[in-house]
Amino acid sequence: MPEGLITVAYIVSGVLFILSLRGLSNQETAMRGNLYGVAGMIIAVLATILGGSVGSLGTLMLVMLVGGGIGMFAARRVAMTAMPELVAILHSFVGAAAVLVGIVSHLESGFLSGTELLIHEIEIVLGVFIGAYTFTGSVIAFLKLRGSIGGKPLTLPFRHHLDLALLLIGVLFGAWFVNGAPEEQLMYLMIIIAIAGLLGISMIMGIGGADMPVVVSMLNSYSGWAAASAGFMLSNDLLIITGALVGSSGAILSYIMCRGMNRSFISVIAGGFGVAEGTVAVASKEDEGKEAQATSAEETADFLRSAKQVIIVPGYGMAVAQAQHIVHEITKNLRNRNVSVKFAIHPVAGRLPGHMNVLLAEANLPYDIVFEMDEINSEFKATDVVLVIGANDIVNPGALSDASSPIFGMPVLEVWDAKTVIVLKRSMATGYSGVGNPLYFRENTWMLFGDAKESLNKVSALLN
Ligand code: NDP
Repeated sequence: MPEGLITVAYIVSGVLFILSLRGLSNQETAMRGNLYGVAGMIIAVLATILGGSVGSLGTLMLVMLVGGGIGMFAARRVAMTAMPELVAILHSFVGAAAVLVGIVSHLESGFLSGTELLIHEIEIVLGVFIGAYTFTGSVIAFLKLRGSIGGKPLTLPFRHHLDLALLLIGVLFGAWFVNGAPEEQLMYLMIIIAIAGLLGISMIMGIGGADMPVVVSMLNSYSGWAAASAGFMLSNDLLIITGALVGSSGAILSYIMCRGMNRSFISVIAGGFGVAEGTVAVASKEDEGKEAQATSAEETADFLRSAKQVIIVPGYGMAVAQAQHIVHEITKNLRNRNVSVKFAIHPVAGRLPGHMNVLLAEANLPYDIVFEMDEINSEFKATDVVLVIGANDIVNPGALSDASSPIFGMPVLEVWDAKTVIVLKRSMATGYSGVGNPLYFRENTWMLFGDAKESLNKVSALLN
């Protein structure tokens, strides 16, 4: 295939990837966005195969079939609640690939000299460093999200000094690699990989609880930069474009999430925030001695029957219970009774950005009754009943009022302004950030204990 045609194919792929990102920013166009992405990737792979630089087509086909097969199997089987884990482990593969490309590029760089060699070696150092950091960091994020390692941050003494020291040693070995004798270079490269890997472990181990969403998106960004540096090493323009797209969109998403949680990016990276999930909530000093009030499916159905406006706040528990379909049934029922029903979506509800929107779309809920936090927060005051379905951190009033709370400053859905709040969850356990929730002790809050799907099935039957 002529060089010019390959360039055109790469440009078309790049444009399709940009259209894909644009499509994915909206629920209604997300499917189209996905299709653009698939088309872009098919063109990119075909152009690469036909470009003539592939040594063994058979080997390439075999690894593509095995990799694609595993990917398809994993994606089909993964539960929505485990999606962040899958994303984290996929980022680790990009990091590992960048490290391998770096090593091979170094072994094959014998034909370069002078400035060209210097630039190539700097690319290699950057590529393997970001790659190794992304690899180990993503593996730790995967293990944390999976629960194999506790969510609590590991706050070793002098942790930040240790991280800074690792970074400086990495830079030092980078300089030695660039200036070193050829027979020593491979050893230096391996040391750089080990140091960056250690830094990834140390930094992500130090981050916990409610900051994990930002970490996943930040690692997404790093995996993009790792791919872009692999693109420089391989002189592949499309890999540079794609890596930059992933890198910058991940960075923008991290920034938006930090703003959503009212935290600075530096304080997230510095870590040490959040405790273990599932800890039983301890009432604050103010709430000491107060009992949370329990309610029943019958009372909940009565509250809903007499309401004019209902807002439903879904959270991680709705995903665990897979309650989205029964939520749709109840929504239909209430709307048929001329009750106004709206959904309030917090930017970090669930376990990945857009988690709740995906579940509601899966249950075919109309998009025009689903609202973002900023659009709906002022409406709680005029609302009769709020149904909080398996949400906890995102409706915690302590985030606004308790300066000692670890989630202080995170904007939340102000559900307590409504006349009645009904919280569906199984127990008094805390959510992801491990922080107690004073909402449960408010006078207008009622707890409907039990699995959200089972509770809602009962409520739905009573409404019929
Ligand atoms: P939370 O984790 O704060 O709370 C979820 C609640 O759901 C739990 O308290 C649990 O209580 C309840 N629950 C679990 N299973 C069920 C069930 N079967 N039926 C009923 N209730 C159930 O979730 P939120 O959505 O409120 O907040 C998201 C949190 O996750 C934030 O802290 C956010 O920072 C973090 N996060 C967000 C990510 C994102 O990108 N969206 C990614 C990773 C983390 P109980 O055990 O008593 O039932």
